Amino acid sequence: MTQSQQASSKAKICVIGSCSMDLVVTSSKRPVAGETVLGESFKTVPGGKGANQAVAAARLGAEVTMIGRVGDDHLGATILQNFKDNNVNVDYVEPVTDMESGTAHIILADGDNSIIVVKAANDHVTPDYVAQAIEVIQASDIVMIQQEIPEETVTYVSQICADANVPLLLNPAPARPVNDTVIKNLSYITPNEHEAAVVFEGQTLEEALRQHPNRLFVTEGSNGVRYYDGQQEVVVPTYKVEAIDTTGAGDTFNAAFGVALAEGQSLQDALRFGNRAASLSVTKFGAQGGMPTRQEVEEQL
Ligand code: ADP
Repeated sequence: MTQSQQASSKAKICVIGSCSMDLVVTSSKRPVAGETVLGESFKTVPGGKGANQAVAAARLGAEVTMIGRVGDDHLGATILQNFKDNNVNVDYVEPVTDMESGTAHIILADGDNSIIVVKAANDHVTPDYVAQAIEVIQASDIVMIQQEIPEETVTYVSQICADANVPLLLNPAPARPVNDTVIKNLSYITPNEHEAAVVFEGQTLEEALRQHPNRLFVTEGSNGVRYYDGQQEVVVPTYKVEAIDTTGAGDTFNAAFGVALAEGQSLQDALRFGNRAASLSVTKFGAQGGMPTRQEVEEQL
């Protein structure tokens, strides 16, 4: 294969979602109201489920376009640079004027974390904004979306995908109900167990799985992924690893599953690829820090 043939054979993926910066403080003590304590360390780490999935998919060899928004602040510039460093196309990541970038303020203390999320620019990923990129969406092999952006945008994107016959992979995280239009339009939905209980409230997991054969995939951490194949419930086991940090495991799973499906791999192979990539990601610190390259996944399959 020539280089240009290789480039053109890459799966085209469009990720529509959030980008943010995690501001992480470690401290031996969590302050109570009105108290000031001295912390031990501070670092900034790019995050947001949309950005995480875009970066993971690009590392796995896909041609990725991100559709999202940052603020017009220095964090936004850093988030954009991180996308570029990871070969993610940012033509549709436009800064919002006079607005901050999305942030997650994380305190790690007493072996636990407390987090405040400020959505800021991510609330500006509106249907009108996404409409500018409609041709990119229509030309994608798969579209990936999550729930850190407004619900009306998820609904709008689901309709574009259904009309253009482009598969839509919804990772319904963080947990919030998914409306009937989106459920009807999507091709794949990948909650973890907690999100599945929220999205399919009023049904048992078994009922939900049977109602959505080969399209509902429930990730179960170190257990792997559960779905219904039309005849029986199947659990595709993940790989045994020494888990160091499971932050971003779901994002890596979704990205890898999406890349494999976009490449036309079978469902079984795509699930195996998702499990392999996600299991590797938990062996290192950080969400994006642990996301493996294509080569690292293939060496271990
Ligand atoms: P989320 O991060 O969204 O809560 P899960 O915890 O279900 O999602 O993890 C997503 C996927 O990551 C799992 O289906 C599995 O493939 C992989 N994974 C997560 N934790 C582990 C682990 N301890 N060992 C191996 N693979 C894991």
